[in-house]
Amino acid sequence: MLVLDGKIASAAVKASLLQQTQALKAAGKRTPHLAAILVGNNGASETYVASKVKNCEETGFGSSLIRFGDDVTESELLAKIGELNADSNVDGILVQLPLPKHIDDEKIIEAIHPDKDVDGFHPMNIGRMVQGFDTFIPATPYGVLLMLEHFKIETKGKHAVVVGRSKIVGRPMSILLSSGHPQGDAHVTLCHRFTPKEELIKLTQQADILVVAVGIPEFITGDMIKPGAVIIDVGITRVEDATAKKGFRIKGDVNYEQAITKASAVTPVPGGVGLMTIAGLLMNTMKAYEGKFYHN
Ligand code: NAP
Repeated sequence: MLVLDGKIASAAVKASLLQQTQALKAAGKRTPHLAAILVGNNGASETYVASKVKNCEETGFGSSLIRFGDDVTESELLAKIGELNADSNVDGILVQLPLPKHIDDEKIIEAIHPDKDVDGFHPMNIGRMVQGFDTFIPATPYGVLLMLEHFKIETKGKHAVVVGRSKIVGRPMSILLSSGHPQGDAHVTLCHRFTPKEELIKLTQQADILVVAVGIPEFITGDMIKPGAVIIDVGITRVEDATAKKGFRIKGDVNYEQAITKASAVTPVPGGVGLMTIAGLLMNTMKAYEGKFYHN
């Protein structure tokens, strides 16, 4: 059984990016710069953004963290995004989600210039991805592709089952796995809330590659896994645990202990896809620095 270790795969991506930034510095050029916007003080969001900024530093990227209180208005946020769009020293902009309820997520995402949309959520970039054009791929599915590439997991002709259809994970993942590229060419089944449970079990049991992104801890149990399958667990849920130092533990969407007895390869949680999401984000930021897709 192979542990698809996100530390190993993301370190390889980061080492290659570090080489590129070192070469840029040696040539007297500026390096890629990521601007992250964080609203409020949600614990998980704080952790994610801090980790993204730290990874930028480790890779020789510039970064800036722009913080707003929970009471920020939509127009204040839009004004900041407009400023960052116009700043030629900023290559990538990310707005950490979720945002407070009084702010329209979609309006904010659409305000980011598609050339700087390193999370890959802008409808123009999603459209380009669906058509197979070179573009920013949403960071988590991109991280999964980088993981599959690193561990040389064959996807061509395999049956990939994706559970969850969110705009940022499940749906783009299903499109990417079915598209024609080295980590694609799979035949894909997408399951979601309205897939009857007995049907879902039958499908997961046929999956050569099973990608799970539902946000329900240990939703996938050992009996739902085909022997020898590759399991990609995207889920990250904080589960209260008084015995843990922080008062909670991180759980994935797959029962890891059961999965390792059936699968040929499994991503751990934490230490799997989460680290690859950051690798995907850094790769997108380098792409944004290197060349603009839209040229306007
Ligand atoms: P989301 O937006 O809540 O989407 C969850 C998806 O699961 C939805 O499509 C939902 O269906 C579906 N679903 C819910 N219950 C189901 C059921 N019983 N059977 C089948 N499908 C069901 O969440 P997300 O943003 O995709 O994230 C999913 C998980 O991944 C979360 O734990 C999140 O924290 C984690 N995550 C991790 C990373 C990372 O870097 N590792 C990045 C992003 C997210 P409907 O569409 O009908 O609601």
